[in-house]
Amino acid sequence: MKALVKAHAKSGLWLQDVPEPAIGINDVLIRVRYTGICGTDVHIYNWDEWAQRTIPVPMTIGHEFVGEIVEVGSNVNDFNPGDIVSGEGHVVCGRCRNCLAGRRHLCAATSGVGVNRPGAFAEFIALPMTNIWRHHPDINQEVAAIFDPFGNAVHTALSFDVLAEDVLITGAGPIGIMCIPVVRHAGARHVVITDPNPYRLELARKMGATLAVNPMETPIAEVQKQLGLQEGFDVGLEMSGNAAALREMISNMSHGGKIAILGIPSQEMPLDLRQVVFNMLTIKGIYGREMYETWYKMSVLIESGVDITPIITHRYSYSDFEQGFQAMMSGMTGKVILDWTS
Ligand code: NAD
Ligand code: ZN
Repeated sequence: MKALVKAHAKSGLWLQDVPEPAIGINDVLIRVRYTGICGTDVHIYNWDEWAQRTIPVPMTIGHEFVGEIVEVGSNVNDFNPGDIVSGEGHVVCGRCRNCLAGRRHLCAATSGVGVNRPGAFAEFIALPMTNIWRHHPDINQEVAAIFDPFGNAVHTALSFDVLAEDVLITGAGPIGIMCIPVVRHAGARHVVITDPNPYRLELARKMGATLAVNPMETPIAEVQKQLGLQEGFDVGLEMSGNAAALREMISNMSHGGKIAILGIPSQEMPLDLRQVVFNMLTIKGIYGREMYETWYKMSVLIESGVDITPIITHRYSYSDFEQGFQAMMSGMTGKVILDWTS
């Protein structure tokens, strides 16, 4: 089968013929239809310091996908050939305290699809049945392909109650932008998003932001005045990994405000914790998605009419993956889809 492989310990990816994966008794085999390119895949493509430390070569990469089940192991009763499914990208150990308590998203021994084990940028992928999410058969399959990052957005955006609250999102990457329709649906009042990138600010406006601002031009304190906020934002969603963005967020929260951080900083960052203490803020780190409450919520949100289709801005055949990665690296995209059906 064809697969996009990190075949050499240097920048780039290689489209290669590799053996189809074999399945064990607890696994399912999926024919991949559409995949999404994630920032993680770009790190692996670029072979940055994190990728060099993390990825064993050769490795088929990719973890955002939708496909159709073509075969199930002898122990699998709940899934059948023909089911349209995505895969949770973290394979958990199932035996640690958190896993046994049903808090699988907190497992400390996860294995990453397309990072530590063969991924989804391929014609077929094999996964344990415990990692499969079945979609409604009529779901828009490009949307289904990005349930993994949509799940990051949903898990973060619904970490705190947003009904009637004012929400600040720092970072209008695809995940930050997908938070907008989610917090809107959950009843937020003002939803402000920041990013220095004008292309992404425009996309954020299209997806329902009250205001989308460039923080280099407009301080958040100014935005507060413009909206007539008394004290500051009630809920903050940090989606940039940028130190200045997080500092600005912490400075613009109301007393008792709550911040969920998904953005991954590239290095340590100094913060004024006095503001956290005196303003009695709650800060929560988010990694991945809840298995499988986030997936349940995603399916229901889509069924209830939450529309994330505008975030998909670029589509390429898998054989044109170079163009897809170049588009991602330009920053002038929402989500980029690779089509494995043609
Ligand atoms: P992305 O890189 O596409 O988006 C980040 C955005 O932040 C960019 O548009 C960038 O212009 C913007 N930004 C940079 N400096 C800023 C500033 N000072 N103020 C406001 N915005 C600024 O990333 P994404 O795919 O949307 O993911 C969002 C973040 O979440 C990334 O940091 C990513 O590494 C991280 N992430 C975390 C998890 C997790 O499980 N914790 C999972 C996926 C992604
Ligand atoms: Zn575990």
